[in-house]
Amino acid sequence: KITLFWFRRDLRLEDNTGLYYALQQETGVLPLFIFDRNILDDLEDQEDPRVSFIYEQVLQLKKELEEKGSTLLIKYGTPEQAYAEIFENYQVEAIYTNRDYEPYAIKRDKTIEKMAKEHGTTFLTFKDQVVFEPGEILNGSGEFYKVFTPFSKVWLQKFSETKVEPLNYFHWKNLLETEPIKGVTLEEMGFKSSDQNIPSSNPDEEIIKHYDQTRNFPALDGTSRLGIHLRFGTISIRKLAIKAKELNETYLNELIWREFYMMILFYNPQVVDKAFKPAYDQIPWRNNKKEFEAWCQGKTGYPIVDAGMRQLNQTGYMHNRVRMIVASFLTKHLLIDWRWGEAYFAKKLLDYDLSANNGGWQWAAGTGTDAQPYFRIFNPASQTEKFDKELKYVKKWVSELGTEKYPNPIVDHKFARQRALDTYKQALDR
Ligand code: FAD
Repeated sequence: KITLFWFRRDLRLEDNTGLYYALQQETGVLPLFIFDRNILDDLEDQEDPRVSFIYEQVLQLKKELEEKGSTLLIKYGTPEQAYAEIFENYQVEAIYTNRDYEPYAIKRDKTIEKMAKEHGTTFLTFKDQVVFEPGEILNGSGEFYKVFTPFSKVWLQKFSETKVEPLNYFHWKNLLETEPIKGVTLEEMGFKSSDQNIPSSNPDEEIIKHYDQTRNFPALDGTSRLGIHLRFGTISIRKLAIKAKELNETYLNELIWREFYMMILFYNPQVVDKAFKPAYDQIPWRNNKKEFEAWCQGKTGYPIVDAGMRQLNQTGYMHNRVRMIVASFLTKHLLIDWRWGEAYFAKKLLDYDLSANNGGWQWAAGTGTDAQPYFRIFNPASQTEKFDKELKYVKKWVSELGTEKYPNPIVDHKFARQRALDTYKQALDR
């Protein structure tokens, strides 16, 4: 009999809650990773750097586990197919895994839990991806918070009262002793390796220390660049949150936003394709395909918008300040459905995360949890003046600025602003 530990968005051995508890079991623990075809088959780009990143991390885990005399079982298929094979080949006492709060993951886990039951196997899940999970931060009436500020206050209060500590002592001796098991290769799954530059998973303390002063300026190296590592669990959120509390409260606040949007998605799975505020589904989006294409390619004639989109297209990253500007521009200036922009970001962002991306887009479109009404419309020129005064960021990505090659503005700012205000007002007054 064996115990399985199933890795998903927690691709690390250190401070991994589910793994820690699995290793308390005497029955040999066999770690598992499944390359899930339900997810992979939907990706369009053979050279998707996120797949390469996961693949590299999985090989690294396998190597580390083999150094400890065990291995990593790597499967390729749907989770149901993978488990059907596993139940044929092994007698599984229990499956240990860390909880994931996205709608797809919840459904997947229900299916596997049911399969496990049919085989007399226990299915156990643990909190690992967040400091506080959905349900832990509730208001006086026991309901989830719809607004960020009170949520963050309670979060901080609870954080100071709770002993949040990384787990250190792992019973590695309880790993299943076995020869290495060969896994599937990237090529066998139809992907190619991509050498996209992924920032280090080591938090830069100097950056975090000055985060409140530097975070808004896209030309600076002023944010942590840990998004992809938080997404795939190649860094422990507990360690990072403890560090953040010590170094910079503004930074800690951003980690709370991450948990806020995860919680919103958990309690409101409909936001995946609907406005959080239902009335906003009435907005008659213009959805002009040519304009959308110009936005995607960074050819709107608004330098800060174009710089952001080109940074995204070339690197898989865009600075947060600029994400807000381009998202506001798409939804307000061009009146294009926020879901179009959201889907484009989902394809391109290395740090893509359903809850944060959806939250960010609905915030920009004014359809989300934010109490600010729709008439917050970013002015690209004054945003540039405030946050990229010397045009360092803009010029880095838009080298033809000021030449004939650079396109004229796709729409006049004043006109677009008024059109957005009128359109939103009419839709909401109905
Ligand atoms: P830092 O500024 O160093 O912040 C540290 C970490 O805090 C981030 O890595 C992230 O995990 C978390 N965080 C920071 N800001 C937010 C926020 N507003 N909401 C939720 N979590 C936050 N973030 C994603 O992780 N994935 C996305 O797909 C994503 N899409 C976005 C789309 C739009 C339209 C907007 C406006 C924001 C989006 N964000 C998203 C939030 C934010 O822009 C990124 O988290 C941040 O830019 C990543 O860079 P960083 O790691 O240097 O962040």
